[in-house]
Amino acid sequence: MTHVVTQACIGCRDMGCSHVCPMECFHIGPEMLYIDPDSCIDCEMCVAECPVDAIYHEDDLPEESAADRELNAKMAKVWPVQ
Ligand code: SF4
Ligand code: SF4
Repeated sequence: MTHVVTQACIGCRDMGCSHVCPMECFHIGPEMLYIDPDSCIDCEMCVAECPVDAIYHEDDLPEESAADRELNAKMAKVWPVQ
């Protein structure tokens, strides 16, 4: 199980999410952040820190954001940890 950053994150550089993550899950890409599903422990700390509600548990992803689960897993391997 993991949490997922959705496209609502695009353009935000708040980063409050990554600062509270105890597992350094957040990887920073050119447009948005991605959560590494191999590191996430589903503590939910990051959810309350996001001002645009961009972070969801993978089981609660809106239908239009379903592809973001795979995108996070893929891009977290490409971009460095925040
Ligand atoms: S706070 Fe939310 S929108 Fe901002 S960088 Fe973090 S996940 Fe993205
Ligand atoms: S749910 Fe917890 S472990 Fe997972 S990304 Fe958010 S803060 Fe990090």
